[in-house]
Amino acid sequence: MNTDVSENNNNISHTYPPLTPGTLYLVSTPIGNMEDITLRAIRTLRECTLVAAEDTRHTGLLLNRLGFKKQLLSYHTFNEVQRQEEFISRLRNGEIIALVTDAGTPAISDPGQRITAAILAAGFKVESVPGPCALIAALAASGLPTDEFHFIGFLPHKSGQRKNALTRALPIPGVLVLYESPYRIDKLLNELQELAPLRTIILAREITKKFEEWLRGTPQELLKKIKNRSLKGEFVILIAPEDFNTTNK
Ligand code: SAM
Repeated sequence: MNTDVSENNNNISHTYPPLTPGTLYLVSTPIGNMEDITLRAIRTLRECTLVAAEDTRHTGLLLNRLGFKKQLLSYHTFNEVQRQEEFISRLRNGEIIALVTDAGTPAISDPGQRITAAILAAGFKVESVPGPCALIAALAASGLPTDEFHFIGFLPHKSGQRKNALTRALPIPGVLVLYESPYRIDKLLNELQELAPLRTIILAREITKKFEEWLRGTPQELLKKIKNRSLKGEFVILIAPEDFNTTNK
């Protein structure tokens, strides 16, 4: 992948100011399709002094495809407290840190959020380098109303806690959006069959990837559609507002 923006695109990169020392940049990366990386994301990754990655191997492959190498430092749920100190000390020394997660927008349902809060609390600047985000990609292409939505990330794993979370979220007006593992889609649809049997549900699978698929229906209709299928890949779940069926069919 030739990513030399300055040569290929009329010196676009020269028209932008340099990155600011002592800043954490939250760099969004593709959720499947490599073409979704932005010019600014590439420049930020190229010009920063350190790339903080949820998975250094995964991000190493991304940088390899972009055609350059950088110093990589891992951070994840199990070392983020220790890393916060290290990032703060590096920012104090004027470093520029680009933080990336495995896919999409850092801090959305991944470890980036706590690091962002800690760095802001320490008095340093945090900037977004916006780009792909699974929830926005799913919502935008769903055809559901986008003027009001509520995102709850991943549900807890334990049945009682899941039921409580859904019971709290389902009455909220607008579209309800969540992330779910392929291993719990069936469980989720059974829970929705009990708590919201008439709502229209959309399963957005593998968005931007080769096997992208959209499944729509009530919980019961979807349970029928996925029966005898072993579900694979990544899913965003959208739950249409209560009045969607009557106003949009
Ligand atoms: N920060 C990411 C973002 O901006 O969307 C989300 C990180 S979260 C750890 C990963 C979850 O996002 C997956 O389990 C899935 O629910 C959703 N996801 C990520 N990529 C996706 C894709 N291509 N299609 C559908 N869902 C996706």
